[in-house]
Amino acid sequence: MTPEHSCRRAAELLSQALDEPLSSGQRLQLRLHLFLCRSCRHVDDQFSELRSLSTGLFGEDWGEAGDDVPAPPPATGKPPA
Ligand SMILES: [Zn+2]
Repeated sequence: MTPEHSCRRAAELLSQALDEPLSSGQRLQLRLHLFLCRSCRHVDDQFSELRSLSTGLFGEDWGEAGDDVPAPPPATGKPPA
């Protein structure tokens, strides 16, 4: 396995981890690569920020944002029949 191939695989796993939990085998593969490869560790940092960002947006605080829903526009023109 060439380093390039392995980096590409690591990037795939990192982006997959955003959408779904990785299998234990995939996590092991990814961890091992991140341990060996500094540039992919940097990518992992950025993905981690993305993950925490989306957790902040859609996490437990999400319910509070419901109050921000704009009121329906006032009825203008013809009154309802
Ligand atoms: Zn790499």
